[in-house]
Amino acid sequence: MDILKAFWRGFAGDSHSRRIRDEGRAKASRRAADPGEPVIKEPPMEIIGECLSADEFVRYVERLDFPDPLPTRIFLHHTWKPTPETWQGLSTILGMKAYYERQLWRDSQGRLHEGWTAGPHLFVAPDGIWLFSDLRYDGVGVYGHNYRSRHLEMVGDYDLVRPSGSILENSIVALGILHERLGLDIRRLNFHRDFSNKSCPGWAVTKEWIIPLVEEWIAAYRQGQHQDQTLLRQSLQRMIGDLLLPTNPQAALAKAGVGRGLLGAISHEVPMEIDDRGYIVQFFAEALLVPVHQWDKVQSLKEFEQRPARAVSRSGLDLSAPPVDPYPFEGDVR
Ligand SMILES: [Zn+2]
Repeated sequence: MDILKAFWRGFAGDSHSRRIRDEGRAKASRRAADPGEPVIKEPPMEIIGECLSADEFVRYVERLDFPDPLPTRIFLHHTWKPTPETWQGLSTILGMKAYYERQLWRDSQGRLHEGWTAGPHLFVAPDGIWLFSDLRYDGVGVYGHNYRSRHLEMVGDYDLVRPSGSILENSIVALGILHERLGLDIRRLNFHRDFSNKSCPGWAVTKEWIIPLVEEWIAAYRQGQHQDQTLLRQSLQRMIGDLLLPTNPQAALAKAGVGRGLLGAISHEVPMEIDDRGYIVQFFAEALLVPVHQWDKVQSLKEFEQRPARAVSRSGLDLSAPPVDPYPFEGDVR
């Protein structure tokens, strides 16, 4: 998006719900201010204004509690201006905020307002990933398409050259973790130009190029998550190691135990006859977990492993524990 020229077109309201509701109708009321016309001054735009590294951003999104209604799509943009060359970190961020707060717009009743309350969510800049409007809520980025949307701006003009270096790498990470965390399909990534006659995110940026790069990141991220989960499972299996019995991985019950996420068998297969029919019975151990002081949040180990990414730290499970109950456990359980 061309921040300084056309940004206001995406805006039409002074609260999230009203803005979104009004947005579809605001086009007809885009007339200039009349001399002496009263202007409703909006409160200052709230931004987060923090710059995160890619790793910090992943952890941030993993832990972010997105309220309903959840976003259904992510838009990719380029700023056009500012460029990486003119980017000056926080002062550029504050400059954009001040710019947005001076913009005039009309609501659906034709009343004139000054100042937006939301903008894009992220600016991927040379110094990192800047948090702008709160990712938990709708922002503004594409005229008429801001409801349940999130907007990522790559700083720079990518009409002729593709983004590269840290701006590309961090954009891939940000797109990857957002899609993964929100359960969205990266193959349905949205470009601003899908809904406007602008080039945004730059003609040099194509879906055929960027989507496979993000898919690759997501695959590696999932692999990392899987390893984290396996670590916990391995650790728990070690804790009750002398209770668990080896099983034939091809046996129906052993396979079912793995499929159901059970920790392991604690008995051999026992043939039984029930109602004149032969059965094989085997006992398995299952681990249940509950967060301390959240006693209604009991989960099986499998459920715990399948919880949303936000609950699992990218840097590995936190295996620390209060001193009275050291964990990970090393030694005999009994
Ligand atoms: Zn755009």
